[in-house]
Amino acid sequence: MPTAATTTATHSYVIERGDGAGLHLSSPIRWSQEPGPPLHFGCDTFWQYGNPGTQHYIGEKPQLNFGGRSIFWSGLIPTIQGWELDFFPPQVRQDLQNGLLLEAGATMNESRSMGTTAKAVVAKLRQSPLAADFVIEETPRALHQPYLKPDGTPASEFFTEPTGVFNTAELLVNQVGLTPGIKHGDGPGLHLLLNHYVEDVQNHGSHFQLVTRNTLNNQIRVLSAGTVVLAAGSIESPKLLRRSSLYPGLADAVKPQIGRGLTDHPTSNEINTFVTHIDTVPIPKNGHAKIIFYSRGIRNGTEIRYPFNVEMNINHEYWHLRENDPSADGGGFSNNNPLGPSRLDIKFSFANCLDDGNEIKPAPPFAYVPEILFRNLSWMDHLAGSRFPALAGWHKNHQEVFDVLNSVTGQIFAQFRNNGQPAQPENNTWYGQGGKGFGWGTVHHAAGSLRMPHKTHDTAAFNFQTVVDEDLCVTGTPNLYVCDMSVMPLSSAANPVRTLVALALRLSRHLG
Ligand SMILES: Cc1cc2nc3c(=O)[nH]c(=O)nc-3n(C[C@H](O)[C@H](O)[C@H](O)COP(=O)(O)OP(=O)(O)OC[C@H]3O[C@@H](n4cnc5c(N)ncnc54)[C@H](O)[C@@H]3O)c2cc1C
Repeated sequence: MPTAATTTATHSYVIERGDGAGLHLSSPIRWSQEPGPPLHFGCDTFWQYGNPGTQHYIGEKPQLNFGGRSIFWSGLIPTIQGWELDFFPPQVRQDLQNGLLLEAGATMNESRSMGTTAKAVVAKLRQSPLAADFVIEETPRALHQPYLKPDGTPASEFFTEPTGVFNTAELLVNQVGLTPGIKHGDGPGLHLLLNHYVEDVQNHGSHFQLVTRNTLNNQIRVLSAGTVVLAAGSIESPKLLRRSSLYPGLADAVKPQIGRGLTDHPTSNEINTFVTHIDTVPIPKNGHAKIIFYSRGIRNGTEIRYPFNVEMNINHEYWHLRENDPSADGGGFSNNNPLGPSRLDIKFSFANCLDDGNEIKPAPPFAYVPEILFRNLSWMDHLAGSRFPALAGWHKNHQEVFDVLNSVTGQIFAQFRNNGQPAQPENNTWYGQGGKGFGWGTVHHAAGSLRMPHKTHDTAAFNFQTVVDEDLCVTGTPNLYVCDMSVMPLSSAANPVRTLVALALRLSRHLG
């Protein structure tokens, strides 16, 4: 049986094998708002110079904090596409495409349909010219959403299933085949140790030691393991590596890269319209759909024509928990007439190559709150001048970028009718100066701070001088692995959890 140690969890626990050489998961939950001494495992686990008016500002900051994001929240599991996998090292790309992404979907109880309206809309869209550039599907969802049945109909009760059941650590545990400990920590197998925060990883040559702190009584507990898998997330894993005692012994090429490249991906503002039909098919107010247009990554010369997915919602609020009552108006906040047209919104979700200008900076040893440099992605100069060229070879000015978004928006809306009239953006507001633009980005998809081999659009060759190799092993440190969003070589257009699950499955085979 392999020995492995993993520092993470969806819930608060440390897992170890009863023989002491086991697998350790830990995840304390404690919030900075609580009274008491300064907490390094609560909110505000980094600081930044920026404020909302500057380029270096992380919007939605609490989503990046320790303990605050241990589940993939809304359970959308779209699939990373082939053109994005070109940014992954060849062997990883091949394995993901040859089955692991599918297997990841099955592992997460992928369910696709939200019912007849969604099916009908997808069928119509697939007959449109848009299908030449986009693979159009209902957005795959993980079935931890307790309020919908697999066929998309609302469940009769809330919370009949637990939410947030997936995390990399749990997957690894299951896949590696470790079993629960016999009892009270005195037998082989797995043991859950609640409320323990990993403070230090030490390399003793033949084994590692993890220094953990009990978040309730502050006591230290030291655990040993032959293999360690860090899975504390794209902010915390680099912090842990950098502050750990093993840091000075890491390969010289690895050290300066720890924490560098932290990246999210740009998303546009939503653009709305109201619709009653697609072709002759009615779209009733109690119908609903969540549809994804995956770019096929077709090229115009050297450019990728559409380096983004389009996400579409029809009667969006319908399946949000706060609007879960199927008898209530499902048309969204700006359309309260139950007999009126359905609300349709779209937004553009770009991929993003790792941004070397972003960094989780070093903090003094055993200090827990480093500075983070992180660009927010509403700045058009940065997007047009740096991000889109690196990703897609786009060399477009601001208006040319918006022209692409407006052209696709127009093509999509042209498929729909509102009481016989062509669907138009609400208030005739399009993308462009004074209209819709880009938001802060989706920091909850942050990735890339302990990267695997990676490239950009313009670099033909992969950079293999990276923190982890293709097998997610820290370069030059055998038996120390990373398996969380920090290893990603790209922040994908698709929500990232399916890719991470596929990587966890791959690692489990490697460890097994
Ligand atoms: C609001 C929201 C909605 C989202 N929706 C989706 C979605 O629909 N689909 C999708 O694909 N993605 C979604 N995401 C993104 C997804 O949740 C994250 O990308 C993913 O959870 C990151 O996984 P991870 O394993 O890297 O880190 P995490 O999920 O953050 O897990 C890290 C774990 O390690 C623990 N930890 C950290 N430091 C330590 C330490 N020192 N010792 C012990 N334990 C530690 C943390 O408490 C946490 O449990 C969403 C994110 C947010 C915030």
